[in-house]
Amino acid sequence: MSSRDKVTKASLLVVEDEETISEMLQLNLELEGYEISLANTGPKALKMVNNEYFDLIILDIMLPDMDGITVCETIRMQHNNVPILFLSAKGSASDRIEGLKKGGDDYLTKPFELEELLLRVEKLVLKNQKIMQPQAVSEVYEFESGKIDFAAHECFDKNGERQELSKKEMALLKLLIEHDGETVSRSYILQVIWGYNVYPTTRTIDNFILGFRKHFEQDSRNPIHFHSIRGVGYKFTSKEKK
Ligand code: CA
Repeated sequence: MSSRDKVTKASLLVVEDEETISEMLQLNLELEGYEISLANTGPKALKMVNNEYFDLIILDIMLPDMDGITVCETIRMQHNNVPILFLSAKGSASDRIEGLKKGGDDYLTKPFELEELLLRVEKLVLKNQKIMQPQAVSEVYEFESGKIDFAAHECFDKNGERQELSKKEMALLKLLIEHDGETVSRSYILQVIWGYNVYPTTRTIDNFILGFRKHFEQDSRNPIHFHSIRGVGYKFTSKEKK
């Protein structure tokens, strides 16, 4: 299996106002097996980033309304660590430096070689997938205030009582446990649990979390295991932080 097979399903957002460039990028990246979404303004891009999970954003700096650097800065302020590859106009070194300072991961100067772009994209996507790699969790997971049997789709709460959870609740529980101690973004949860293009409201996830707290927290108002981080996502911690 070549490394490129592993990134086949990666979803990329291309933010570019010049149609010829965005069409060329879409065509060539789709040929590489990536799923491509397009945005031609900064505000459109930000809206999409809020609603969907992307493995990488290719972000032009010179955009109408809002420049790419501001777009990047806004994304980072939302604690979103999606890899960002800047495209900058030729000769504007200050743009590139500013872009990297504001949280970009890499940049390319226009006009660029397609092959170089593809290599940089692949590198960033693979690096990100490695970071997002879940920790291995056994079929029966036990922690201080509960036991979860992922194979049997059942769990035992803080009092040892058996609780039935829905498939989606189980999937969310597993995802959070696989990222024990890490914040999992709302958009990542939506992509993994609900899949592309089917988006329940944030309330749905909140309700799941409330349910988990009821089952597994001694004091559901002061949770020590299931945390919601406002505007960012959710986090499971198996142990109480002292
Ligand atoms: Ca442009």
